Amino acid sequence: MSERKKVVLATRNQGKVKEFNRLFADLGWEGISLAEFEEVPEVVEDKETFEANALKKAITISTYLNLPAMGDDSGLEVDALDGRPGVYSARYAGEDATDEQNWRKLLTELESVPMEQRTARFRCTLAFVVPGCDPIIATGSCEGLIAREAKGTNGFGYDPVFYIPEIEKMMAQLLPDEKNQLSHRARAMHHLLQKLQ
Ligand code: IMP
Repeated sequence: MSERKKVVLATRNQGKVKEFNRLFADLGWEGISLAEFEEVPEVVEDKETFEANALKKAITISTYLNLPAMGDDSGLEVDALDGRPGVYSARYAGEDATDEQNWRKLLTELESVPMEQRTARFRCTLAFVVPGCDPIIATGSCEGLIAREAKGTNGFGYDPVFYIPEIEKMMAQLLPDEKNQLSHRARAMHHLLQKLQ
């Protein structure tokens, strides 16, 4: 059996590593968590776009380890807030904010916004970098509405307030495999796999 090609995933989040690896497996790639390379410095996500953050992570790690690396960045864009929280999704309610503090802030800001104007989407950008080659960028999104109150206990981040009209469910009501069918990350991975093939 041929050896799998290895790519370092610019995340220490085991959930994401599993999700990415399920999708990489068919192509003969194996993602290794950044947690296995303790010496790699922390990459600060300080850019203005998902693409710039994903590229920064992938390039920094690929250059440091001289190995292929994949960086990802994602977040929530709300139309009534001109695209906020966007790249600031993780720290919307402050530097050390919890997921619940972040979505509560969002619900408060949208209090007077009617349902039909609460359109939003999760976005994910992936940057795949092989030393000496041009980076490959792939994106994915998932459209929905910001609900008036939280519901569901699965997932993380803004999942409890993100309603998906197509399936009439909140993201936090989906099982992991169901979320992997339609999430912004899964869609970005499919686009990346098409480009890698
Ligand atoms: P990152 O890509 O891990 O940096 O994600 C940034 C932030 O975006 C997270 O902390 C969440 O607040 C939000 N986010 C990204 N993906 C999801 C998702 O699948 N569900 C809910 N929130 C998400």
